[in-house]
Amino acid sequence: MSDEHSETLTHILQTVEQICAGFPGEYWRAKDSDRAYPTEFVQALSDAGLLACLIPQEYGGSGLCLSDASAILTAIHENGCNAAACHAQMYTMGTLLRHGSEAQKTRYLPAIASGELRLQAFAVTEPTAGTDTSRITTSAVRDGDNYILNGQKVWISRAQHSDLMILLARTTPRDQVSKRTDGLSVFIVDMQRAQQQGMTVKPIATMINHATTEIFFDDVPVPAENLIGEEGNGFKYILSGMNAERILIASECIGDARWFIKTASDYANDRQVFGRPIGQNQGIQFPIARAFAQTEAAELMVQKAARLYDAGAACGAEANMAKMLASEASWAAGEACMQTHGGFGLAQEYDVERKWRETRLYQIAPISTNLILAYLGQHVLGMPRSY
Ligand SMILES: Cc1cc2nc3c(=O)[nH]c(=O)nc-3n(C[C@H](O)[C@H](O)[C@H](O)COP(=O)(O)OP(=O)(O)OC[C@H]3O[C@@H](n4cnc5c(N)ncnc54)[C@H](O)[C@@H]3O)c2cc1C
Repeated sequence: MSDEHSETLTHILQTVEQICAGFPGEYWRAKDSDRAYPTEFVQALSDAGLLACLIPQEYGGSGLCLSDASAILTAIHENGCNAAACHAQMYTMGTLLRHGSEAQKTRYLPAIASGELRLQAFAVTEPTAGTDTSRITTSAVRDGDNYILNGQKVWISRAQHSDLMILLARTTPRDQVSKRTDGLSVFIVDMQRAQQQGMTVKPIATMINHATTEIFFDDVPVPAENLIGEEGNGFKYILSGMNAERILIASECIGDARWFIKTASDYANDRQVFGRPIGQNQGIQFPIARAFAQTEAAELMVQKAARLYDAGAACGAEANMAKMLASEASWAAGEACMQTHGGFGLAQEYDVERKWRETRLYQIAPISTNLILAYLGQHVLGMPRSY
């Protein structure tokens, strides 16, 4: 990293810290209990240009690299905030950037960079397909100048807070393609227009405040010009964005882990029981120290994966390992923090129980730990496919 780049990043991280200071625990607690979207926080990040950090300068963004975006998300979480409400805006546009036409890029990217258009929603998962994306059945059938969408998506986060959505749908039925991942295509969906033409968005009540939804398509027309890249190649386009997603989510986990470790250590020093700080007991001190070691090690893998990604090198194994190790480190830190706080860990005013619930998600989404292990076993270690 050049001196100039490192200075810019330091300045950006100071901005992140200042923004986060304006959104303390009370803010997140209130949003959590009302299950409300943190609009003000997202707006502050957007106003500071942070959500456009990966958009190239020629399209109005700041053209930073993934390692920088990773540092930004870590800092947001380390400072007690939560970027889940908007992190997709950072990486979802990558599908458009890498595979969209010049016309699509000039139409959408500058508006996304300026905050005029929000691209927060990314729709892949379906209730009957689960992790097996090749089995999605939401169909897009060409009809003149449109494709007509029918089907259902589940767990589509931020759909109610987004102007655009990147959607994966089947354009050729599974039994008519030679490879099961062929015949899938990616579209840009205009959320407002689609909702006036047969698309329904229903919130899902969840254990965390994540603004996630189910989406139903009933003969929804999407202009053919909104197809990204070539029809039938969508799975490859989506896959190419997933490494970035995994590295960035892993970065958030590192931030969460650091928040838990600091909160736990502070409490362990302050809280006196049996006439001494509880941190004097190895049973309290060691799990925090262990989580610290796990976090530092996981962060090295996150940095390695981000560096490889930025260099344009293959990073599937590293991105997956980063996401798995970081989500396990943040969970270990969350558990240590919860246990250190005793009964107060369960009191909402300490923020521990909320962060503990929030960080648990990342062993499940965007990809579950078992599927990462299956990837490593098969593709890295050369063992038989387990599913
Ligand atoms: C809060 C939240 C937000 C989300 N946001 C989005 C979003 O914005 N967009 C989107 O498209 N999706 C989103 N998702 C979906 C998420 O990516 C999936 O939940 C995740 O990929 C797991 O899929 P599943 O829930 O269908 O689990 P399933 O595929 O049903 O798997 C259930 C369990 O079985 C295990 N399993 C399945 N197959 C195997 C196997 N072969 N070997 C070993 N174990 C296996 C899995 O590891 C998992 O533990 C979100 C999910 C949540 C909970």
